[in-house]
Amino acid sequence: MERGGHLESIWQTEVKHYGQENINSIPDSDILIVGAGITGITTALMLQKKGFKCILVEAGNMGYGSTGGSTAHINNYFETPYHKVIKTYGLDSGKLLAKAAREASDIIKDNINIYQIYCDYAIRNGYLFSLDERQDDELQNIIEGNHLVGIDAIETNTNPFGIPSVRVIEIHNQAQFHPLRYLRILLKEFVHSGGMFLENCSVTSSIDENTIIVADSSKGPINCKYLIYANNTPPGDSILNKYITPYIRFAMALKLKNGYYPEAMAYDMFEPHHSYRSHTLDENDFLIAGGEDNIADSLNNSNKSFEKLYKNLKLYFDIEEIVYKWKTKLYKSKDGLPYIGYLPGNHQNVFCAIGYGGDDIILGTVAAIVICDIITSGNSKYEQLFSPERILKH
Ligand SMILES: Cc1cc2nc3c(=O)[nH]c(=O)nc-3n(C[C@H](O)[C@H](O)[C@H](O)COP(=O)(O)OP(=O)(O)OC[C@H]3O[C@@H](n4cnc5c(N)ncnc54)[C@H](O)[C@@H]3O)c2cc1C
Repeated sequence: MERGGHLESIWQTEVKHYGQENINSIPDSDILIVGAGITGITTALMLQKKGFKCILVEAGNMGYGSTGGSTAHINNYFETPYHKVIKTYGLDSGKLLAKAAREASDIIKDNINIYQIYCDYAIRNGYLFSLDERQDDELQNIIEGNHLVGIDAIETNTNPFGIPSVRVIEIHNQAQFHPLRYLRILLKEFVHSGGMFLENCSVTSSIDENTIIVADSSKGPINCKYLIYANNTPPGDSILNKYITPYIRFAMALKLKNGYYPEAMAYDMFEPHHSYRSHTLDENDFLIAGGEDNIADSLNNSNKSFEKLYKNLKLYFDIEEIVYKWKTKLYKSKDGLPYIGYLPGNHQNVFCAIGYGGDDIILGTVAAIVICDIITSGNSKYEQLFSPERILKH
């Protein structure tokens, strides 16, 4: 098994393995990063490049979690729309969130250029569309919220996927990529820069011993000065875990009979919504669709959710074949903003970056910026916005 969820995602063939399984003892490090998804790998590389001695550990293999199971749209809008963020936290917070998304998106582009990463990165328009009046009210709220934070949407008559819609809006400058091709090169660069990566290494707990943190791992204890949990759920009984709900999202990659794969990314307004995009993987075209988020509990019936996703797709597309179908967990925060910063109830040098929504892959890069700034200069302009300590105030 190469990633969470027991079913191979379309990206799964790109997993790269790193061999240090029989290591005798793990050297002390400045920074230990737990979890090799987009958050952990981006953060590890950024900090290693700043001159810290970093160790990155992963319970499975790179991209094993949500990142390897994502549908890999890179948006500057999130699962929690800006109008909701503005309502809860004010306009300045909404603007700051949009700024963070822009900065992170630029970093992804820069990484692709600097390290010459062939990861099928492509700029795309994003399309949000309503299918009835109730959805249209929400679409209107989204348009207004986006406008307030400086993300303009243009009304257009056409849904690029041919889905009959009440209203369609177009948002420029979104992007898509192959997440594991991107991460594979970042990880290679991390190791080339002197970082250590251990796969099949699970961190089970950590304790503070004066200025040193000792993390207990399946490969033995690891001593570090800073510890970053980029693994969705900090181990043990962290209070933060009470503020995170695990969901399962379902996805498929399909061949279409008409061979038409629009160069666009689209989202309906259902709650949870469905997403659509095309991807050419090694000269083969696919339609990739995701959705049907369910709370991850024992009552969840995956077959039913796959059936619902397929039924929805059959409404609009003449399907030739389902080539891949997969499901993966994601961990949503209670208030719709991620928890990035000091892990509550811990030593000041323990951080976390968790609680993203289902359209929030860009937060992995945002987290790297925030945590890197706090460690290197003592603060970050985004610190307050994402601070996990807000749970203690509500
Ligand atoms: C089906 C699906 C589709 C999605 N589509 C999109 C999309 O199109 N656009 C978008 O923006 N977002 C999307 N998302 C959300 C996005 O994938 C996530 O927000 C993002 O990938 C989270 O990255 P991460 O690195 O924080 O977590 P992960 O990628 O989950 O990485 C965490 C890693 O930590 C490891 N780990 C866990 N516990 C331990 C431990 N104790 N010790 C060591 N390692 C541990 C895990 O194995 C895992 O590899 C989607 C999510 C899903 C599930």
